[in-house]
Amino acid sequence: MAPPRKLHINSYGCQMNVYDAQRMVDVLAPEGFVETASVDDADLVILNTCHIREKASEKVYSELGRLRLARDEAAKGGRKMQIAVAGCVAQAEGEEIVRRQPAVDVVVGPQSYHHLPRLLAQAAQAGRALETEFPVADKFGFLPQPRPEAIRARGISAFVTVQEGCDKFCTFCVVPYTRGAEVSRPVAAILDDVARLADNGVRELTLIGQNVNAYHGDGPDGRPWTLGRLLQRLAAVPGIVRLRYSTSHPNDVDDDLIAAHRDLDALMPFVHLPVQSGSDRILAAMNRRHTAADYRRVIDRFRAVRPEIAFSSDFIVGFPGETEADFEATLALVTQIGYAGSYSFKYSPRPGTPAAEMPEMVPAAAMDERLERLQQLIDAQQSAFNKAAIGRTVDVLFERAGRKPGQIVGRTAYLQPAHVFPGHVFPGHVMAPDSIVGQVLPVRIDSLERYSLLGELAAMPPQQHAPPLAATGA
Ligand code: SAM
Ligand code: SF4
Repeated sequence: MAPPRKLHINSYGCQMNVYDAQRMVDVLAPEGFVETASVDDADLVILNTCHIREKASEKVYSELGRLRLARDEAAKGGRKMQIAVAGCVAQAEGEEIVRRQPAVDVVVGPQSYHHLPRLLAQAAQAGRALETEFPVADKFGFLPQPRPEAIRARGISAFVTVQEGCDKFCTFCVVPYTRGAEVSRPVAAILDDVARLADNGVRELTLIGQNVNAYHGDGPDGRPWTLGRLLQRLAAVPGIVRLRYSTSHPNDVDDDLIAAHRDLDALMPFVHLPVQSGSDRILAAMNRRHTAADYRRVIDRFRAVRPEIAFSSDFIVGFPGETEADFEATLALVTQIGYAGSYSFKYSPRPGTPAAEMPEMVPAAAMDERLERLQQLIDAQQSAFNKAAIGRTVDVLFERAGRKPGQIVGRTAYLQPAHVFPGHVFPGHVMAPDSIVGQVLPVRIDSLERYSLLGELAAMPPQQHAPPLAATGA
């Protein structure tokens, strides 16, 4: 049997890229590739790239420069290292990548990575292979299922792509060009993936898509299902205890999604709902097709059915033409909504997008100053939200052993990391992390360390109650 070949994969950007990287590993496993954490002993290095902002895509070229040196070192030792560029930079820049860095063997867009084995073979023969088409057939039908050991190694929380691409064409955004038109996967295919994940220990699912709440995949009844309906069905899959979804557009929040939040305990009360700006003038220039008031009404609909629901958002500062008054409208909206956390970015012009042609660029110094003010407000809201957990008992889904001996780490419904030492609460009772990982247990939160909550188990896992004190020798 040929020795395994080693694959190193470096992923940048969004959750979809994290998911795609795992699927590339699954595609290459039958070819004899196993993952390695180091570039230096890799036979194949894949950069899974992000094109959303200029900084992210420029990083690819500096990384490729380093990889060329690693490849030359490998060649000195008689080993051939192949280099592949995947993801959205591959899609957007295609041949330009090879022109700027001739050491690249394969360039493959996000819709074509199921063809990696063929492209690698082609590159080994012909020196190079490029594929950045949007193929007619959807890649999901061709992707091999992950092996049970791979699912278990990835832990109890998994991403599942249910929708890809975007038809919204926000004027600042490259996604509709790099990921293509909106496509939803059929319900049966998703259920198949989920059953396999749940059978191999997955307890929490995050359904992902660039515009996940525009989901409209074919249902088993031959009709398109909404995201709300899909969530309802997934909540019934044995073993699945938590459901999340990301990223949503405010205009695609429908009654089914609100009903899912009302009815499903497994659906976590934490929604990422990007608004980008609080100024109606800027929202219109961004082609978001809603106002700040529309957004507030959407938030109110969620809150009416789940008062404990919390939100996060994305914001762009310094969109072309943004005035101080526009920016203050953003601060006002953030103050009104009160987020559990948010991401904020300086506007970055992307080639080929309408906003890149807009005059009135906001000066760099004003962008920096606005970003800092916005981030201060967001940070203050996030720490207030985290502090509010102190003294409360909250449900934690345990994920893994912590770095310190005896420590076990999980997450709350709001994705806050929570750390406990079960042995401190039930003395003499040695609790292996394995007996608790994958369970949702109540934790009394005592304190906060940066972004992590520290607490104590408020109950033992159901199948193993603490032995009486006498038996522990206490
Ligand atoms: N589909 C999502 C939505 O509707 O908001 C998010 C897509 S994008 C991968 C993630 C975030 O990157 C966006 O919400 C936006 O805040 C930010 N972003 C996208 N294009 C950008 C640009 N040209 N400059 C700065 N930030 C950008
Ligand atoms: Fe980009 Fe999201 Fe707008 Fe689609 S909805 S264009 S992914 S920001």
